[in-house]
Amino acid sequence: MSLNKFSQKIGILGGGQLGKMLCQAGSKLGLNIAVLEKDLSYPAANVCRDFVCGDITNFDDVVSFGKDKDIITIEIENVSISALETLETLGKKVYPSPSALKIIRDKGLQKLFYEGYGLPTSAFSLFNDKNEILSAVENGKITIPFVQKSRTEGYDGKGVQIIRTKEKLALLLDGPGLVEDIVSIDKEIAVIVARNLSGEIKTYPAVEMHFHPTANLVEYLFCPSEISEDQSEKATTLAIMIAEKLNVVGLLAVEMFIDKGGQVLINEVAPRPHNSGHHTIEACITSQYEMHLRAILDLPLSSTELLRPAVMVNLLGAEGYSGPVQYEGIESCMSIDGVYPHLYGKKETKPYRKMGHVTIVDKSLPNAVNTARYIQNTLKVISYQ
Ligand code: ADP
Repeated sequence: MSLNKFSQKIGILGGGQLGKMLCQAGSKLGLNIAVLEKDLSYPAANVCRDFVCGDITNFDDVVSFGKDKDIITIEIENVSISALETLETLGKKVYPSPSALKIIRDKGLQKLFYEGYGLPTSAFSLFNDKNEILSAVENGKITIPFVQKSRTEGYDGKGVQIIRTKEKLALLLDGPGLVEDIVSIDKEIAVIVARNLSGEIKTYPAVEMHFHPTANLVEYLFCPSEISEDQSEKATTLAIMIAEKLNVVGLLAVEMFIDKGGQVLINEVAPRPHNSGHHTIEACITSQYEMHLRAILDLPLSSTELLRPAVMVNLLGAEGYSGPVQYEGIESCMSIDGVYPHLYGKKETKPYRKMGHVTIVDKSLPNAVNTARYIQNTLKVISYQ
């Protein structure tokens, strides 16, 4: 019985860095993994022999890729949901389920879901386009400041506008969106939950994002977070509740705010491995990637314990450089104990493109933070062309 689990064919939609790291974890367990993605320049192509070129948003491509698989999973939400529904009717196991993915992919439906279950999140209203928002501002139904979010296809802050003054209304995004109250944020955290088909659940210790004090940019992520035990318990309970109510199988990353009053508020979720779990490869007993595979194969989940404090910095393409990538200063960073670069294998850099990340583990969190700052000042993602 358990041998069968290991010989199942797993198909991953998406061949980015998360797909690549899923393949690497799968290889450790000798799993049979295929990836669907546009072309061989994607990171997963370097580690997956069964790499199929196709469009993950295209119905036919996804159905024909999934037809001979036993389990289909994702590394990105923007995939053809109708194809996943068809695959489910063909008897394939699809994790996350298309019905959960439909809710998660639409920030409006996500908010309605939290509201429906009485889960804490900032107050919001839905709008069909920016003109509706402008009229609502005019007749006092919403007041500045507020946050506007596109309902679909936002990522890494694209698709989010913080409107603090009347002048900024010119920046409103068009299309269906939601407006929510600005949270007066003290901390931003994420908790990753793993849930297998049998309902076993594990949660990783909360990770905290550290923001640059002036530029509104995440500088690094660190774990353990500096939230209180109460807040950690609350955040973990909420994350588990969402995973259970969405009936998630696999991972669910839950991003939350701690406001200045100490309240925990849900921001958004992602049903897949997440940027906030990169450090789990070196810092936890079980990495998030292995955990996702264990969960979708309905295997025991194993420990999420943090073995060492960890800091994670993203390696983004430096401004002013486009072309074949070079990692300036990397050797000096690698001479430090506990520094683990992960280069995604993308050949071309562009300003702000995610080219890799570095995880730093250290017995002392402040030391890890110092090393992270050294890396940020030393390691530059550039191009000589
Ligand atoms: P994305 O899906 O693009 O990551 P998020 O919803 O996470 O978008 O928003 C991006 C960032 O915008 C958050 O990390 C946070 O800093 C800020 N933000 C989002 N919603 C709010 C809010 N209601 N109040 C204050 N800041 C917010």
